[in-house]
Amino acid sequence: MDNRHQPLRQCVGCRKIRPKTELLRFVSRASAEAVFDPEGRLEGRGFYLCPVEQCFAKAYKNKRARSSYFRKREQVNELIYEVREELSNMIEKDLIRYKKTAYLKDGLCEEKTIREDDLILYRSDNPPEEKVGMHTAARAGRAKVYRLPKGCECSSPCLIVSSERPIAPRLAMNLQKYDLLSSKGLAR
Ligand SMILES: [Zn+2]
Repeated sequence: MDNRHQPLRQCVGCRKIRPKTELLRFVSRASAEAVFDPEGRLEGRGFYLCPVEQCFAKAYKNKRARSSYFRKREQVNELIYEVREELSNMIEKDLIRYKKTAYLKDGLCEEKTIREDDLILYRSDNPPEEKVGMHTAARAGRAKVYRLPKGCECSSPCLIVSSERPIAPRLAMNLQKYDLLSSKGLAR
């Protein structure tokens, strides 16, 4: 993707500047704790964090950031849990939408039809030998491989999502954020 025209924001944890779409947005409210804003639509004073636990912890350790963004001691862990749940729900909703179209396929028998930018999704309980096959297919077709959130309802252990649908970039971004937030910053 062309990064030049993307709006940039700074993470209040590590202070790095990244494209807005790669960060998680929160709104801090005077009366309550920080609220996760997955669609970027809530009004109020927003702040951004990378989707990794370390950045939540860093923001919390910084006294000034803590007093302006977090109000309760236990909030960081609660917030991480909330964000993960919300991302998982959004991913599931998008997959349900995909199920109504012909753009979602069972991945195990259709590896040859993978095209550039398609998404390969696998369940976390998928056996390793099947993962090898998926990664080979991904390399050949330049598709992206993501692990599905735990508990995500899905009949097949492996799915191929076509990039031809407008919701594909959002789905990919949410999967990436979920994966980063669930694996302590190390994707797979
Ligand atoms: Zn960060």
